[in-house]
Amino acid sequence: MEINHFCLFFDNFAPMAGLYLHIPFCESRCYYCDFYSSTFKGNRDLLLSSIQKELRERRQYIKEPVRTIYFGGGTPSQLTTEEISSLLQTIFDNYDCRVEELTLEANPEDLAADYLQALKSLGVNRLSIGVQSFDDEDLKRINRRHTAQKAIEAVQLAQQIGFDNISIDLIYGLPQQTLMGWKKNIQQTIDLNVQHISAYSLTFEEGTMLTKMRDRGEIMEADEELSFEMFKLLRQTLSENGYVPYEISNFALPGYESKHNSSYWNYVPYLGVGPSAHSFDGQSRRWNIANSRLYISKMADGDTYYNMEMLDNFTRYNEYVMTGLRKKEGVDIAVLETLFGKDLRDYFLRMIDAYIKEEKVIKEGQHYYFSEDGIFISDYIIEELFWME
Ligand code: SF4
Repeated sequence: MEINHFCLFFDNFAPMAGLYLHIPFCESRCYYCDFYSSTFKGNRDLLLSSIQKELRERRQYIKEPVRTIYFGGGTPSQLTTEEISSLLQTIFDNYDCRVEELTLEANPEDLAADYLQALKSLGVNRLSIGVQSFDDEDLKRINRRHTAQKAIEAVQLAQQIGFDNISIDLIYGLPQQTLMGWKKNIQQTIDLNVQHISAYSLTFEEGTMLTKMRDRGEIMEADEELSFEMFKLLRQTLSENGYVPYEISNFALPGYESKHNSSYWNYVPYLGVGPSAHSFDGQSRRWNIANSRLYISKMADGDTYYNMEMLDNFTRYNEYVMTGLRKKEGVDIAVLETLFGKDLRDYFLRMIDAYIKEEKVIKEGQHYYFSEDGIFISDYIIEELFWME
């Protein structure tokens, strides 16, 4: 019964899928990062051939044509263009591809003119450049390997070469970052005329260097109120300059919303290959082992290299509410009912009612989304709406 609900949803709304490749190479480790990646280069060829093998073996995982391809990491711009070409060829040979968006995450240091030209001729039509800050002191404190000037030059060079869909990543709430420093970052971003911005508040993840430094008293976590002011300034300034906050942390000029990331938020199936990559088929989630050496050996031996969780109706409801409310258009109650049934629909309406009365949530037709006030306490409200057993 539930499977039929999902088929109905996909048939009517999103009969396309996304493909994610996790490229776990990094030249150095940033102090805040807890993504799986390694600076060890010894097993590079074996790792890439294991990813190719996974691509071939899992071609039945997604039934829908591939609409988006996303090279993430790690640092995919550490790949040579020959390696990227070979991975793409494997995808084109094994999947029904109707690719509209082909994104590559890149470090500014890697974006030389000939490399950018080659990426363009391979069909890469969207670059996601990891800038994080346009302040050299911020960059040093988090161990980024580029400078602010290098980031500016990389964006401008990509634009000269003809990339017209560029996203940059920023982080706010960095140690010692001031509101004025953050304001300059936002202005620099606007001045560069990029089409898309992802901006996240710094989080101190377990095991990262930054968390160790905080625990040793070497750095201070940003004051919560300051982070909140930074978020407010970000939303306000970007909105005034034509960027639509189509998701809480993502801003785009109209027409430049990330199709690939929107798939995650719209609950569309996706296949992720490579160490630590996640996949979703509408019913279950799979995540690959976050260890290149084990990933390679298990792939070679035909052993299981992933964990899997079947998602029950309540878990899927919670995920859907969380990702739905983070989007500008919010949760569509008709879709929610189609996916999860009348009982969870009634539960959602009962729980959200108080926030509508407080004007934290707006109801417009069948859509429920955060008001400008509500957005600032979105995490709290989302949790309140979760189904708790
Ligand atoms: S943030 Fe990106 S470049 Fe830095 S360590 Fe993490 S994956 Fe590597």
